[in-house]
Amino acid sequence: MPMKSSLMTHELTAMPNFHAGTWYQHDLGAAGGDDALSGDARAKTVVVGAGLAGLSTALGLAERGEHDILVVDRGGPAEGASGRNGGFVFGGFSLDNLELARQRGADKAALMHGWTRAAVDLVRKRCKEMGVPVSEGSVLLADWFGKPERLRQFQERMHELLDFRLEWVDERTVPRYVASARYGAGLIEPGSFHFNPLAYARAIAARLRDSGARVASNAPVISMTRERSGWRLETPSAEIRADRVVLATGGYERRLWPRVQRAIQPIGTYVMVTEPLGERLDQLIPGGVAVYDTRFAFDYYRPLHDGRLLWGGRISVADRDPDAIRKLLYRDMLRVFPSLAGCRIDFSWGGWMSYARHQMPILGELEPGLWSALAFGGHGMAPTTLAGDVLAEAMTGDRTRLAEFETWGPDWAGGPFGRAAVQGVYWWKQLRDRLR
Ligand SMILES: Cc1cc2nc3c(=O)[nH]c(=O)nc-3n(C[C@H](O)[C@H](O)[C@H](O)COP(=O)(O)OP(=O)(O)OC[C@H]3O[C@@H](n4cnc5c(N)ncnc54)[C@H](O)[C@@H]3O)c2cc1C
Repeated sequence: MPMKSSLMTHELTAMPNFHAGTWYQHDLGAAGGDDALSGDARAKTVVVGAGLAGLSTALGLAERGEHDILVVDRGGPAEGASGRNGGFVFGGFSLDNLELARQRGADKAALMHGWTRAAVDLVRKRCKEMGVPVSEGSVLLADWFGKPERLRQFQERMHELLDFRLEWVDERTVPRYVASARYGAGLIEPGSFHFNPLAYARAIAARLRDSGARVASNAPVISMTRERSGWRLETPSAEIRADRVVLATGGYERRLWPRVQRAIQPIGTYVMVTEPLGERLDQLIPGGVAVYDTRFAFDYYRPLHDGRLLWGGRISVADRDPDAIRKLLYRDMLRVFPSLAGCRIDFSWGGWMSYARHQMPILGELEPGLWSALAFGGHGMAPTTLAGDVLAEAMTGDRTRLAEFETWGPDWAGGPFGRAAVQGVYWWKQLRDRLR
């Protein structure tokens, strides 16, 4: 029986308030080519959403010899979280590593965590091939609570359980990486790095086009119909037929195919970028590292190549405007770097992350010909890359790795109640951080 769902065009063209211009766009300038989409179109695989989940899946297919692919986005490549994030590329999923081990057992957890570390290496390799610069500095986890024994314990658990080897940086050495009186000891993740994620996404889109696939911007999918053989999708200017659809709409869409997308909660997080700070930045972050800390509600920040500081933080269900974001994050920044009082903020923005209740990605063929690449949460650079490979493997006949993800399905995320609960939990954990 045909099944259809549809949306109003205006519901998809209005962007969130916090989608202000980013430093990433400023650094790169306007995007290059696009594949215009109008009239009747057909592709074996249509990917809805050109974030890193959709682009990596398309690239995974192209690398396995399938090129009849059309990727569509309501904006352009990496319009959503993938082009607005902190740019940390490191191992793991959004689900806490210890919880992953508790749920799946140490061996399985070690295997899956290892896949994300391999994905970090793959992103680095692709960046090298495509000429996308990456940092020399790695990612540093800094101790906020002055409890080195806890950090040590965490380091040992990661090694024992997941064969995940983090490098110890003692309290006296941390200032060589980041100079703030806030921190005690730290852990460096070998192999991790930071980069401009928009540059990476645009490079993948270009690589896809070179391989014969199409990537179309300004093409919001407003309806999807399951027919006897395959799928029919509509955008305001085109009707597309496909054998296979990949839903990779992140936290930006929950009504296109509600049976799957009802499993998503869109949760916001915010970023701002300072004016160029010159030598001051080298004094604050001499190690060129990307830093986050041991609180639940941690800050995340990193130096940019033009001497600015990118600062991120907060988790909220609110679509705040850029001024409000700036005020909120400025206070956080001064708590870590009081010497930056008075510095100008040139950019601020936000983005929606997409969370499932279980905090793991939702990957798989959820209905015949309908594939999901959703719910990467706040930790998506490596997992979206991994997902692209896992899904492409499954679509081309090998479902072994995909089977490991099928435990985490599209459970209802609670709608507005779920959102309220997420905000409540965040506030409670933020308060607990303060009390500690
Ligand atoms: C501010 C911020 C900071 C973050 N920092 C980090 C970090 O440092 N490191 C890290 O690993 N992760 C980070 N994350 C998380 C990471 O960015 C995400 O997990 C990842 O980008 C998710 O990719 P995605 O492709 O699933 O979603 P998205 O990138 O959001 O892509 C979804 C796409 O679908 C499109 N779309 C939606 N509906 C439709 C439709 N109907 N028709 C057509 N197109 C549609 C959207 O326009 C969008 O481009 C951060 C996230 C945010 C918001």
